Amino acid sequence: MTGFADAAREELRNPQLRRNLRKATTTIRAKRAAVVGEVDEWEALRDAGENVKQRAMADLATHLEQLEASVTRAGGTVHWARDAAEACAIVARLTRAAGSDEVIKVKSMATDEIGLNDALALQGITAHETDLAELIVQLADGDRPSHILVPAIHRNRSEIRDLFRATLPDAATVSDDPRDLAEAARRYLREKFLSVKVGVSGANFAVAETGTVGVVESEGNGRMCTTLPDTLITVMGIEKVLPTFADLGIMLELLPRSSTGERMNPYTSLWTGVTPGDGPQDFHLVLLDAGRTATLADPVGRDALHCIRCSACLNVCPVFERTGGHAYGSTYPGPIGAILTPQLSELKSGTDLPWASSLCGACYEVCPVKIDIPSILVHLRGRVIRETGGHKGESLAMEALARTFAHRRRYEAAQKAARLGALPLSKDGRIERRLPGPLKGWTAVRDLPAPPKQSFRDWWRENRG
Ligand code: SF4
Repeated sequence: MTGFADAAREELRNPQLRRNLRKATTTIRAKRAAVVGEVDEWEALRDAGENVKQRAMADLATHLEQLEASVTRAGGTVHWARDAAEACAIVARLTRAAGSDEVIKVKSMATDEIGLNDALALQGITAHETDLAELIVQLADGDRPSHILVPAIHRNRSEIRDLFRATLPDAATVSDDPRDLAEAARRYLREKFLSVKVGVSGANFAVAETGTVGVVESEGNGRMCTTLPDTLITVMGIEKVLPTFADLGIMLELLPRSSTGERMNPYTSLWTGVTPGDGPQDFHLVLLDAGRTATLADPVGRDALHCIRCSACLNVCPVFERTGGHAYGSTYPGPIGAILTPQLSELKSGTDLPWASSLCGACYEVCPVKIDIPSILVHLRGRVIRETGGHKGESLAMEALARTFAHRRRYEAAQKAARLGALPLSKDGRIERRLPGPLKGWTAVRDLPAPPKQSFRDWWRENRG
């Protein structure tokens, strides 16, 4: 495995990163467990969430057309983007048409996914991130988000203090006290909120029957971006549509407890088209495909589209907790990234990510919409091997194992050969040295039990046969 494995090895050499990650994920995990434990009907809620997403995906085209009609009726304009390039071009064109060369942004995975900030920069348009963590990542030139919910989880507060001192105006003496850091960011952002004419957001949900679009966030910056500018442009993956307003209620119960470990989300902004004299007078909804239709065509993998980006699966993942998000090389890290990234790219990138898992199943247990991530990981491993010809060694090894296990004589001969082969490498019942060739990876970081001197079959023949 290349890509993730090499990047993970690199990240594992950074003890500060591991400390930051362990502290943050342990805290969020405990908060989530406490508030989820308060809800007696949590499992029923998860079932309901799963059902909503299954219904939405089963008839996606109809719901999207209904959403377009509802948004248009409410005074908004809907645009369809087949891929990242089309979506970026639409946002750039609309920004120019609004007479602006700047946008203020709500934290959004979809706009990260399409590389919107870089695309706008090429058109001479500056994007200002307004979510505190996204701002930190943006100010640290060359940095990238490493967590869905906490994009700067890889940085601690003294690193952030140094960054603010170096980059923000009037922050040369800021301390590493969280209140001070927030105040420095707040002073900087207020000026942007009040002067920039175009806001850009993602959407957590959009309701087909009413045309209502929603963003949930914790800082209030999203509310500023979606209410103060004259023009609001929302970029939304097509899988975010919900059939009815009642479905939104279920999602708003599931999301905050699973993501930030809160009973209720601090800021839930919902808007329906344009309201004369109140908020942006020009609203555009960009519906983004970018590999989602292709993902929907896979009867197993399509469940990845149910994701509501709560990040609970990242926080419980033993792999993510050690490597951090950058190792995944994708906008979507952790378990959800491992199943979403290869599918959205139609197996053109991220094809090593389905192997970036121990298949422990912790992600499935916490997922609020019950996405069976481990099963999808295994399914995608099969697809990658079959469709890309990757992981040839593993594929050949499995074929050889299947042939061996299918016949008693072959199986017993293989047992005998393994016993003889392992003899010179065994000590106290364990193989302690690195095995050669394709088995090297297995023994690089773990001991293997040595094959027993006598197999059960031989024992049975000798004693009971
Ligand atoms: S896969 Fe499930 S747990 Fe992970 S981010 Fe998506 S909704 Fe949350």
